[in-house]
Amino acid sequence: MTFETLGLSQPVLQALALKGYDSPTPIQEQSIPTVLTGRDLLGIAQTGTGKTAAFMLPSIDRLIASDQRPRPRSCRMLVLAPTRELAGQIAESAGDYARFAHLKVVSVFGGTSVNRNRQELARGVDILVATPGRLVDLADQKALDLGSVEILVLDEADQMLDLGFIHALRQIVKMLPAKRQTLFFSATMPKAIRQLADQYLTNPAQVSV
Ligand code: AMP
Repeated sequence: MTFETLGLSQPVLQALALKGYDSPTPIQEQSIPTVLTGRDLLGIAQTGTGKTAAFMLPSIDRLIASDQRPRPRSCRMLVLAPTRELAGQIAESAGDYARFAHLKVVSVFGGTSVNRNRQELARGVDILVATPGRLVDLADQKALDLGSVEILVLDEADQMLDLGFIHALRQIVKMLPAKRQTLFFSATMPKAIRQLADQYLTNPAQVSV
């Protein structure tokens, strides 16, 4: 299996060549074709399996395909992660993968300057990677419009619940368009995650590695 046969476009393939990835990991093989069709996805996978690329690569492709310029650069993809460390890592990978797609990646998380976040968001963003608490703060301050989000990713959903982000999460989802693609990733699938998935995903494909 190659990334070409999974149906990814040239700008993404170029970025992968630069990263030096030869072939997709199992979670990437299972997720990429499904996400490319626009279907919701419930993925059960640990960090280290290549799950960031599994959701990021096909999402970038979909953003390229639905891009309508000129437009205001309002957030089109929102990735929520439970910790600063993870949000930072996802944003770094997203920047690499989107290098030839002309999509701007911004990350916002606690422990950094809110003012700097505001300034950066004001300059435009396509892909936003955020921790839930900081995102709610920025939304409350009207620093951010989530009305154009086409793709929502919830990464490490089980951690998100363990850290008490359920309320912030519900607030955020309320600000998003109902018509969107939603991708959920979790290392475990306890009842609370299953219920959340039932609520936020529509007819999801399920993959696990
Ligand atoms: P993740 O599970 O998303 O945190 O990814 C774990 C590590 O695997 C990261 O350092 C990625 O850069 C790397 N990686 C992801 N996909 C591939 C691939 N197809 N080939 C080689 N390395 C990869």
